[in-house]
Amino acid sequence: MRGPLAAALFALVPGTLSAQGNDAAYTAKIKEYTTDPMFLTELVDHLPASAKVPSPQKVLGYVVGTPDRLTYAKDVHRYFRELAKASPRVKVFTMGTTEEGREQVLVVISDEANLARLDRLKEITARLGDPRGLREAEAKALVAEGKPIYWSTGAMHSPETGSPEMLMELGYRLAVEETPFIQAIRRNSLVLFTPVLEVDGRERMVDVYRYRKDNPSRTPPSLLYWGHYVAHDNNRDGLGLALKQSQNVIKAALEWHPTVIHDLHESVPFLYTSTGTGPYNAWLDPIVVDEWHLLAYHEIEEMTKRGVPGVWTHGFYDGWAPNYMFYAANGHNAIGRFYETFGNGGADTKERTVRGQSERTWFRPNPPLPKVKWSIRNNVNLQQSALLLAMKFVADNKDRFLSNFYLKSRRSIEKPMNEGPAAYVIPGDEPRAAGVSDLLAALQIQGIEAHRTTAAVKVKERTKDDKGKNVEKEVAFPSGSYVVRLDQPYSRLADMLLDTQWYNVNDPRPYDDTGWTLGPLHDVKTVRVADTSILEAPMAKLPSGWRAPGTLTGAGAVFVVDNRAEGQVASLRYRLKDASFEAAEEGFEAGGRKFGPGALVVGGADRAAVERAARDLSLSAVALDAAPRVKTHKIGVPRVAIVHDWLNTQNEGWWRIAFDRYAVPYDYVSVHVLRDTPDLRARWDVILIPPTGGASIPRQIAGIQTSDAVPWAPSDKYPNLGGPDQTDDMRGGIGFDGLAHLRRFVDQGGALVAAASSALIPVRTGIVEAVDVTEARGLQARGSVLRASIVDRASPIAYGYGETLAVYFNQAPVFEAGPAVALGGAARFAEIFGPSTPGRVSGRGGPKDPDIPQGRPYVAPPETPPGPPQTIADIPEEILDFVRNQLPPEDRLPRVVAKFAKKDDLWVSGMLDKGEELAEKPAVIDCPVGKGHVVLFANNPMWRWQTHGSHALVFNTLLNWDHLDAGRPAPHKP
Ligand SMILES: [Zn+2]
Repeated sequence: MRGPLAAALFALVPGTLSAQGNDAAYTAKIKEYTTDPMFLTELVDHLPASAKVPSPQKVLGYVVGTPDRLTYAKDVHRYFRELAKASPRVKVFTMGTTEEGREQVLVVISDEANLARLDRLKEITARLGDPRGLREAEAKALVAEGKPIYWSTGAMHSPETGSPEMLMELGYRLAVEETPFIQAIRRNSLVLFTPVLEVDGRERMVDVYRYRKDNPSRTPPSLLYWGHYVAHDNNRDGLGLALKQSQNVIKAALEWHPTVIHDLHESVPFLYTSTGTGPYNAWLDPIVVDEWHLLAYHEIEEMTKRGVPGVWTHGFYDGWAPNYMFYAANGHNAIGRFYETFGNGGADTKERTVRGQSERTWFRPNPPLPKVKWSIRNNVNLQQSALLLAMKFVADNKDRFLSNFYLKSRRSIEKPMNEGPAAYVIPGDEPRAAGVSDLLAALQIQGIEAHRTTAAVKVKERTKDDKGKNVEKEVAFPSGSYVVRLDQPYSRLADMLLDTQWYNVNDPRPYDDTGWTLGPLHDVKTVRVADTSILEAPMAKLPSGWRAPGTLTGAGAVFVVDNRAEGQVASLRYRLKDASFEAAEEGFEAGGRKFGPGALVVGGADRAAVERAARDLSLSAVALDAAPRVKTHKIGVPRVAIVHDWLNTQNEGWWRIAFDRYAVPYDYVSVHVLRDTPDLRARWDVILIPPTGGASIPRQIAGIQTSDAVPWAPSDKYPNLGGPDQTDDMRGGIGFDGLAHLRRFVDQGGALVAAASSALIPVRTGIVEAVDVTEARGLQARGSVLRASIVDRASPIAYGYGETLAVYFNQAPVFEAGPAVALGGAARFAEIFGPSTPGRVSGRGGPKDPDIPQGRPYVAPPETPPGPPQTIADIPEEILDFVRNQLPPEDRLPRVVAKFAKKDDLWVSGMLDKGEELAEKPAVIDCPVGKGHVVLFANNPMWRWQTHGSHALVFNTLLNWDHLDAGRPAPHKP
């Protein structure tokens, strides 16, 4: 205890002093490891003693917050299991395992009476969370009987190390401390902990930290991998739920119906408690926004009263995108919140300088100190104190928070009758059964219900006519249409995911993606229906995990499988790897059905196997006696490599997830393998370089440059280092050798795919010609959904696609392709060949009349070319002779498969400003090089398991890797 203030605070909480003694040695260490008393509160400045319940020190051998000590997740879990063994107030459940087989746990702490009736308490929150048919009086009784659930989650971000340590001590404190403060939390709420969310990353981080401490003179490895697939983006999986970690969280959330999920992060000083700058997510119930503020300002006031500097809110993060883990709460009528506290990236005690955030401003009247000596114990103290204050506030106001939870759930159900809309409908004649199934799966995994109509339905929709007048028109949906009703508990999340987003460019700079509309991203038509009569339509609820069963009809030994640009087409190819596959290069009719280009003709396959595969993969096939008469080419089973570098692995992880989910095999190799393998063609047919961290080309060539070797591999001492790839030395990049090997690989007929930031590698190093990346000066398209037009529908890359496709694009790169590049780009071309005066010069006649100089015969000026040249024939004759040597031959010019749409058609969802800088620029380019191809994407086709509609752009490239010239227009011969 310190000073009169603490005494005064105790006076506010009568009976805080109890007969319970403290663990004197532990308490002394808390004080020793705290760098200044101002970073301590009366809530955590001591540890109560217990004769039978072990403190963290008793199990681990050290006090929480000991300098230079971090605890492995497995030991954190061991501690909680020891705690549960000794205390009747603690239980430990398993939430499931990660991709690498490590366990995630859920610790439940409350008093003995609550733990004895956990099932009943869970039943109550479930009923309040789905109050359909619940009467007000019943709800009131349930609120009175129930307990709010406060779930804290730690160490999602592996370099943010303090929270698992803190949660161990807090778990002990909550289990044993006999103050009214702690008793109230135990009696009036259930406390849940997941001390380590990213358990794979935590073990790697502790090893990296130990390596650093053991080898102070050596360069330590960076934490290159956290989880198996992604690093920091594990907190951007709230929409795709592709990671096991996220799936375990959503499963637990749907089982427990927590009132609050509170995620513990570390970045800014000293304690930022979340609200956000806005724009806030526009689909949430305003009540939850008020609750964010209520809790944040309660913590700020209480911490400030205790003399703790630098506890603040507002000025960090926006509140817009629902892709964070805590949307397991916000998206489900609960409260999602987070802290950012000050971490030191390990457990060191260091002098820290705080720049920007030490300035006082309206939302930070009590800013962090500009200079401070900071320890992990300070971090533990601040997290633990503020979290206790928040948990106590929720426990003290338990009826208020449970009533709000019930009210938010009820208002979600009433949404169609209030703000609307009533539903989203996927028309039943949508031919992409796998695409529809994937979209519905993305909703169902969130607990959102989907239905299917059993009769044709007509609804009235208000729309505007040509003159802008409101008119009503009838919209018909066939029987078998899918309906996402918005009179269900998670209607707001459904609306959030299926609606379009508008992000004003004048708002604060977005924290992450600005658009995520799932229908367009999945290339599935979704119709927003306001007419509530849709809710009366006859329909049946789809069971969870439902997929449209694929079909095989007809008889015969040749099978034709429809290609609708679904990733499952690639799954089929690899699943039936011994069968022969051909791709149709044109549309045709067979078995009474029409097929588009890219349909697969399968021979040498067992009917039962085809039928089973079609059914599982939601594909549609017909059996014929003989192969259809259509031009085809062979589709093999290409050998594929996915490449990563040793600088940053995150974004390629989203590509690996997609490949793994579709069961398309690949070798996962580093740039060092490219550097060290002269004959890449001998090993692979297709090499994919997904987007990287965006290091400069020189850095990608050079890689890490230090004087001593940097290992990323397990050893006896550091068993968790390494994985998913490993090396004894991370130094060095792709190197000039690697580039030369890649070029040779393509020359010899291989296909190289590079997307988004990685597209710069082949472009800037000259592996491809007549493609450039231009500087967009004003474009603002930060993580937006934009429309692309498929402009070369005969290209195998476009097989199965319609005329347009919505793609994910994040600001760069903006491509130019074609002969104009050799002339200095489109802008330079316009400068040279356009009129030097826009419009016309001042002179006789009207604005469209030619200018006629006087005193000589009139000669018409040269025609202004309509735009930059697309082919060599488009180049004005008078300069062709001068530039011919700078152009590849016509049949080696890049083939633009998809372009961004015209300016007015470009926006689908999210932020877009100065779209003219991107409009009509290439999105997908196929560059013939030597005997092979380089395929470039401006969009990221495999992003966060959200862009299913674009997946087939990659898989079409891969399956047709040796026939990408199919359908290419014959070169112009003058
Ligand atoms: Zn974080």
